[in-house]
Amino acid sequence: MARKNTEETAGVRAGVHSDEQYGAVMPPLVLSTNYTFAGVGEPRQYDYTRTANPTRDILAAALASMEGGAGATVTASGMAAITLVCQCLNPGDLVIAPADCYGGTFRLLSRLSARGLFRVRFIDQADRAAIKAARSEKARLLWVETPTNPLLRIIDLQAMRSLADSVGALLVVDNTFLSPALQRPIAHGADLVVHSTTKYINGHSDVVAGAVVAREAGLHAELAAWANALGLTGSPFDSFLTMRGLRTLFVRMRQHEANARAIVDTLTSCAEVTRVHYPGLARHPGHEIARRQQSGFGGMLSFELAGGEPAARRFLEALELFSLAESLGGVESLACHPATMTHVPLGPEGRRAAGIGDSLVRLSAGIESTDDLVADVVRALAAARG
Ligand code: PLP
Repeated sequence: MARKNTEETAGVRAGVHSDEQYGAVMPPLVLSTNYTFAGVGEPRQYDYTRTANPTRDILAAALASMEGGAGATVTASGMAAITLVCQCLNPGDLVIAPADCYGGTFRLLSRLSARGLFRVRFIDQADRAAIKAARSEKARLLWVETPTNPLLRIIDLQAMRSLADSVGALLVVDNTFLSPALQRPIAHGADLVVHSTTKYINGHSDVVAGAVVAREAGLHAELAAWANALGLTGSPFDSFLTMRGLRTLFVRMRQHEANARAIVDTLTSCAEVTRVHYPGLARHPGHEIARRQQSGFGGMLSFELAGGEPAARRFLEALELFSLAESLGGVESLACHPATMTHVPLGPEGRRAAGIGDSLVRLSAGIESTDDLVADVVRALAAARG
């Protein structure tokens, strides 16, 4: 039997040699919105770019192959990907989602359910009692994010597959935080994988885009038809840039993770740091599950400082290399204060319930030199002492 290439090679080689007209090694960017018919009633492979486009198709095929799915739909943003998945829902259908999901997902599910398009129940997916209680009612979608943002909690995908089976739901996993380089949810039972490709997959902080990968061809075809009907598909130029980023995904992820580990080592040996949230730490509550379902621990981490919000503020203001910004997963290192930035929509009560304190700092380790990043963190920790 022919040997199948690894996901890493599939990502690097996607679309290489596919240009039959000029023999271009790298696939060209096709910006045209429309395509001629060969004759009346004789469409060619493509007719209109909202429906399908050669550049976007190369990215979609690469993502499907790397995630192990039957097909992928490339969307204009991560939120467009989530909107697309919501097309699986009918009035009365129940969605079970994590209480600490990405704020934009929380807002979309809450607002659409408030309009009666479906029902939603937010639960703590790391809590066995909550999972047991959720088994009592049929559901259409079980939404999962792992690791969670910003506390890097790990959700057991096997347990979620079992919950999805008992309530008759499709299992949807938002894989934005790890990418297919470090986690392939379909291999753990997911029906759909969602990405904000804005993050690690594009990896250069210059494209907002998304994707939905489906395990089954039938569900993929249904979602692709909805993406066309609703106008959610991604632009060819964004797809070209994202494909360019995807080719280096595995190499980047290795450096993101090496840098995150070095920063974690620095933080854990600092008296001012009261807690470090990183699944690679043996004492992290989700460490064993992460070892089982991930092939790496990723480039995201968060930590808490003894001096409360003033210490977090001093730390963030003293950083020189890390940029104070939302988003994550780019080549450049970023620092974020969830209480005043990404997690403001939860309000003080919601943040308290989710365990997001005012001294929490989230870091997205970039791919700069490890020594430079560690030096920046050491300098900022000294400033945090006051
Ligand atoms: N899912 C996760 C986990 C995210 O972090 C984000 C954005 O931060 C999204 C989805 C939404 O993606 P986008 O900003 O590309 O619409």
